[in-house]
Amino acid sequence: MLDVDGAGMTSQRNRDRLAERLARRGIADGRVLEAIRTTPRHLFVESALADRAYEDIALPIGHGQTISQPWVVAAMTEAAMEADPARVLEVGTGSGYQAAVLSRLVRHVFTVERIAPLVERARRRLRDLRIRNVHVRLDDGNLGWRGRGPFDTVVVTAGAEVLPEPLLEQVAKDGRLVIPVGNGDVKDLCVVTRNGDGWRRRRLGKVRFVPLREGVQR
Ligand code: SAH
Repeated sequence: MLDVDGAGMTSQRNRDRLAERLARRGIADGRVLEAIRTTPRHLFVESALADRAYEDIALPIGHGQTISQPWVVAAMTEAAMEADPARVLEVGTGSGYQAAVLSRLVRHVFTVERIAPLVERARRRLRDLRIRNVHVRLDDGNLGWRGRGPFDTVVVTAGAEVLPEPLLEQVAKDGRLVIPVGNGDVKDLCVVTRNGDGWRRRRLGKVRFVPLREGVQR
């Protein structure tokens, strides 16, 4: 059969298979599975790793960072989408893949990354894919993105020790923060929902993430 992508391992068929695998692993939101099916993950990793892009694993993206495992991206996107958000803030742009997945589902995606070369690379990829509703900023994402909030959903794609106060402040009424949090390498993936004057916390499971750090690296 003719392979439209010209490279066997990066084809639509592999994305379809990945979506099926994620569905079997419990991802139920059809919108999320469709976004995974239409986002070319192989373009968010170095070409030497492209043939592994549709395995359900994290992969290195340089600077000691990783593109998250597809199951984690899907689970976080599913938790984000429960709020039917129009504006989402992501902390930890990395490759830009999670932002690209969100861009299929949400009107405005704002994403903050602290490592300058990753910001440049993510911007270029998103531009090449003609994704225009993702805005990338170089900054310490612990601070959120003042002036662009409040956000219906804030998604943190790096592991936190505690909930960053500025991020909680930038969550809209009835909004939520999706964040891996805890001590040590293995974190609880938490959904923290604004609940009147307080917060309600739900745990989705254990996950491994690169750490949420402070400051900007140029
Ligand atoms: N969402 C990414 C996953 C990237 S891994 C993707 O789809 O590829 C986590 C990223 O968070 C890394 O790029 C790391 O540099 C970034 N990060 C860590 N601490 C941060 C902070 N305080 N502010 C912004 N980005 C941060």
